[in-house]
Amino acid sequence: MVLTDTHTHLYYETDEVKRALLIQRCKDNSINRLFLPNVDASSIPMVFGLQASYPDMCYPMMGLHPCSVKETWEEELEAIEQALHQHKIYAIGEIGIDLYWDKTHLTEQIQAFKKQIGWAKALKLPIDIHCRDAFDEVYEVLLQEQDNDLRGIFHCFGGTLEQANKLIDIGFYLGIGGVVTYKNAGLDKVVAQISLDNIVLETDSPYLTPVPYRGKPNESSYLIYIAQKVAEMQQTDLETVAAITTENSKKVFGI
Ligand SMILES: [Zn+2]
Repeated sequence: MVLTDTHTHLYYETDEVKRALLIQRCKDNSINRLFLPNVDASSIPMVFGLQASYPDMCYPMMGLHPCSVKETWEEELEAIEQALHQHKIYAIGEIGIDLYWDKTHLTEQIQAFKKQIGWAKALKLPIDIHCRDAFDEVYEVLLQEQDNDLRGIFHCFGGTLEQANKLIDIGFYLGIGGVVTYKNAGLDKVVAQISLDNIVLETDSPYLTPVPYRGKPNESSYLIYIAQKVAEMQQTDLETVAAITTENSKKVFGI
């Protein structure tokens, strides 16, 4: 069995020993593929540093997180664009719109999102979308930018069945994480009604820890609890969920 964590910030752990333990616990739980999004210019070396240590497990993504779109966003984008041409990467991300913390830079967030979608199209890469309190704004950009090349993952999907179907209809996979294990979030019922063919799994570690470790820092090895919950909602077994969601991740990332 191979499970794929399509979105983890495991590189935030900089202690070599603790890092090795995190990786070992992933292997113990059959989580053998980790996709790493940076968030800004300063996190670029962290992503490539972790990948250099574990090249057979770690796959980098590059982008400017919408919460990092501040006054210096154009300089940040320049640094990230350089990194795209110096390293092999597997997606542009995480990119998108976040109106939960701060709405002041909405215009710049949209500009940065569109510019990075342009990189993805030019490089024929998928995008990894971060969206918080901004579904309509993100969806509008996706419709405007839609062409035969634009594809990717809607990371940390937590919306309604209608929103899920809108994304599936334009060729996006839904990134399902720890929220599916939360009582009252309602995501489990949405997951029960969509095909496994449209789902990839993720932890977003160290955030959004699944039950039974909710309240503690998240780690990629906990992907197993997310996969188990998805299996339960889909009325199937863990092996089937692992096989289909890993196959989906291979289709989207090309590896
Ligand atoms: Zn993230």
